Parts: sequence; structure tokens; C-alpha cells
Amino acid sequence: MILVLKTGMSREKVDALCTFLQKTFGVQTNPIYGAQTTIVGLVGDTQSIEVESMEMLDEVERVMKVQEPYKRANRKFHPDNTIVRVGDAEFGGNKIVVCAGPCSVESEEQMIDIAESVKASGATLLRGGAFKPRTSPYAFQGLKAEGLMYLKRARNRTGLPVVSEITNPSQLELFMEFVDVVQVGARNMQNFELLKELGRINKPILLKRGFSNSIEELLMSAEYIMSGGNTQVILCERGIRTFETATRNTLDISAVPILKSRTHLPVVIDPSHAGGMAWLVEPLSKAAVAVGADGLIIEVHNDPKHALSDGQQSLTPEAFDELMKHLAPVAQAVGRTI
Ligand code: PEP
Ligand code: MN
Repeated sequence: MILVLKTGMSREKVDALCTFLQKTFGVQTNPIYGAQTTIVGLVGDTQSIEVESMEMLDEVERVMKVQEPYKRANRKFHPDNTIVRVGDAEFGGNKIVVCAGPCSVESEEQMIDIAESVKASGATLLRGGAFKPRTSPYAFQGLKAEGLMYLKRARNRTGLPVVSEITNPSQLELFMEFVDVVQVGARNMQNFELLKELGRINKPILLKRGFSNSIEELLMSAEYIMSGGNTQVILCERGIRTFETATRNTLDISAVPILKSRTHLPVVIDPSHAGGMAWLVEPLSKAAVAVGADGLIIEVHNDPKHALSDGQQSLTPEAFDELMKHLAPVAQAVGRTI
């Protein structure tokens, strides 16, 4: 339920109203102060609250029922875009944010080498997996803590903030120290115990859509994190499973405008895992920028043929540089920069 307050309501009055609502109805209140109007979102058991009784309150202009099960992630609760700031990057702002780097961290030299080249091409974050959720238990599982250390060294050298995937709450302490953005992979999108833990920390979360999950399920997973108090959530569409076998996954391009209309959270696209092939990264990235994505996360490897994971979909640093050049006019065409 959302209360739209009368114009010109002082902060003191809004605070007093929130305290009254919390005490009387046992709900949590989420006030958003806009340029013109202030709204108060009510979260919790709002079923028993009558719209009429809210309309009778002096401070209230209008009452809206929110049908969707996601509240804090809902654009109705927060009409303006949320901007998630990481270093110099602003996810959800006018400039499209590009994260680039290898699927897996393989060595310190590799990370520094790739970080320097993607930075020169215009990337503003460095990616690299240290805990790898692999389909086969015999495949490379990642360098774990050592990998996070190399990421941090590449960060110190280049100034690029780093994004890396967490697979278990027991890794949280390490991630708090070494990582700027905590990635939740597709396989863990509904690991609710992990999401609850991430709701308690003060770090941005890159939440990837599970390959068999609906848009509403993605938003409910964001809600898990936000309901714990962490509102810095970035959503990522990375392709879903369909009957199509020509690509690794099917990029759900319509997820971007749908998400942008339903939520205030920034939305990024991962064209590497969606297409599964290096040559598809450019056309899918162009589509992502054109359709309104706030960012891209792209796999770049200095020697894709010998990569320990996802080499076939990784760009060389040179190809990434070309890609960035080709994306600039697309961004410009939709009124953005990259
Ligand atoms: C990754 O980013 O390397 C990864 C494993 O992605 P996803 O969770 O989308 O498969
Ligand atoms: Mn990968």
C-alpha cells in the first residue's frame, strides 16, 4: 500500500505519521521525498488495513494498493531510478556502465594485464570469478581466496572496482574485504539464505537472473536483499533456457523494458553468457544499449583459446576495444553515453 501525501508536508509531520503507522498497524514505512510530493510505502501485513481509514488521515491525499508481491523493488514505491554508485561508476545514470574481465581469475599477471587494457578501452569495473559454480565437479573451480587477492591487486594497480561471484554465505568476510560488487550467479538467484545474508551488508549486489526464472521471481529475489536493508541491487539479464539450441541461452531482450517499467533498480545485460559465442557479443551488446540497459558485463580474456572457463564466449582485449568504439554511436542514438 502506498500513501501519497498532501504537498508541502514537513519532514517532522512525515516522521510522526510513519511512527503512528508503525505503532498502530505493525507495518514498516518507507518514505520517499520527491521534488513535488512525498509518498510513504507500507510493507508488511497491509491486507487488514482499510483504504478508507488511510484516506481519512489528515496528511494523506491518495491511497494506492500495490498488487505486486515485490514492494521495495517496485517502481510504484520509488518512482525515480535508483542509482547504485561504485567508484566513479553510476549504475542507473545516463552513462552506461561497462564491467569487463575474464570468466575466471587465473593469475595475478593475467588480471593486471586485462584490467589495464579494458580500462584503456573504457570499462569502469573489472570482473573475474574466484569461486566458480561449474556444472562438472571435475572442471576448474576457481582460485578462491587467492583469486580475490589478485582481483584486489588489479584494483589497486588500475583503480577499477571489482565484481566477483559469491557462492556461499561463508565467503562473506572475504568478499567484504576484497570485492566492491558482490555477484549472485544465475544458479544462486533463489538461494534465499544467501540473499538474506546479502541484505545485511552495505555493498552493491549484482543479481543475475536464473536461467529458468521469471521476471517476477527475479524481482522477488531482489526483494529478499532489499527487505534486509540493502537497497543497492543491480539486476542482470544473462539469457534464459528455451528450446533454442543455436545459442547457449536465449537473451530475453524484452526483460529490460519490462524491468525498467516495474522496478527502479538498474538493469544490466550479460551478452557473453546469453549468446555463448564471442562473435555474438557485439550484436547483443548493441541491442542491449538500444533497448535501454544501464550497463553491460562482458567476458574478456587475454588468451581465449586457453581460458580455464568460457573461452569460446570471451573477447580478446582488442575485440573489446573495437566493441566499445562501436557501442558509442548506439548509446548516443538513445540519448546516453558509454
Ligand atoms: C559468470 O558470470 O561467469 C557466471 C557464471 O554467470 P551466470 O551465473 O550468469 O551463469
Ligand atoms: Mn563465465
